[in-house]
Amino acid sequence: MTALRLHDVSKRFDQTLAADRFSLDLADHELLALVGPSGCGKSTVLRMIAGLQPVDEGIIELSGDVVDDGRSAVPPERRGVGLVFQEHALFPHLSVAGNVGFGVRTDDRAHRVAEMLELVGLHDLGTRYPHELSGGERQRVALARALAPRPRLLLLDEPFASLDPNLRTRIRDDVADILRATRTPAVFVTHDQNEALAIGDRIAVMRAGRLEQVGTPEDVFHRPIDSFVASFMGEAAFIPLDEATAMVRGVDGTGFPRHGDGNGLLMLRPDDVTFEVADNSASDGTATIVGAEFRGSTWCYRLRLPSGAELLSVRSHLDRVAVGSAVHPGVRPGHLPVLLDPPSS
Ligand code: ATP
Repeated sequence: MTALRLHDVSKRFDQTLAADRFSLDLADHELLALVGPSGCGKSTVLRMIAGLQPVDEGIIELSGDVVDDGRSAVPPERRGVGLVFQEHALFPHLSVAGNVGFGVRTDDRAHRVAEMLELVGLHDLGTRYPHELSGGERQRVALARALAPRPRLLLLDEPFASLDPNLRTRIRDDVADILRATRTPAVFVTHDQNEALAIGDRIAVMRAGRLEQVGTPEDVFHRPIDSFVASFMGEAAFIPLDEATAMVRGVDGTGFPRHGDGNGLLMLRPDDVTFEVADNSASDGTATIVGAEFRGSTWCYRLRLPSGAELLSVRSHLDRVAVGSAVHPGVRPGHLPVLLDPPSS
């Protein structure tokens, strides 16, 4: 069963096409991360799924039921969709238990509230009020409240953005575990690519209202369809193939996966690139180390080729190389960088 289907959905605000024939399917139990640059239409897509904004054209289905076809729309409260937004939006005058039980039928309420608070690890905080909770606790209450009415789909818009980085990692992993345990399909918007890679079953990358690529985290990171997705999902260098063939060991122009004609650019992530320090003088190397950034467990080196093009290469923090060293860059054995068409604009 498909939990959610958007078919050719469009939404225009004056001059802005916030969704442009946007199509996407979400399988039951699937956790999908929706990412893309600011203003590309992520929140608009969530709002249309929730019923907070009608579609101009196209169809939205939830578990096979059409909820919006551009002519008539099922109101938000009858869609069975739960919402968790960054700002929590808890009712300040209601206790934690009151918040969690808000949308639940009276006969089921006490049992459901206890079950939800247990699920999010807050069973002893039911009598507190939102202002008596930490940011992480409030976020868990918001999740418990959204899950309590047994939604058929959960939408999360930047749910972890207001949390500090350590807490954020813990809460996001907890939330992903809870969604998987309750088998609740969910779409979550994030600005954090690492978050999307860490907890999404699949990732949908949007650009200017359109779906650029949807795939597993490995797909969008290692097999991006174009240089936009490649650079949006993580650090990458794009080197013309002929230059890479001449300057980077292990590149002979064959054997790499291709997208499009794939004649243009070789995408190299920092972990794809290794290097050996040249024996003698600077003239021996085909690249020069022009920068080194300490990242805790690794150093990330910036290598400049004679053309001025640069590569990044990560190595163990134990493996120090001086800036200014001449080096021979190479592709790490087993890594298969992707060949992409040059960007059209
Ligand atoms: P961000 O990551 O910055 O939150 P987003 O990807 O969620 O952005 P949206 O909020 O969906 O983007 O906005 C998409 C585009 O539609 C933007 O150009 C925005 O200015 C415009 N837009 C969104 N809502 C409205 C509205 N109610 N009226 C007019 N324009 C709007």
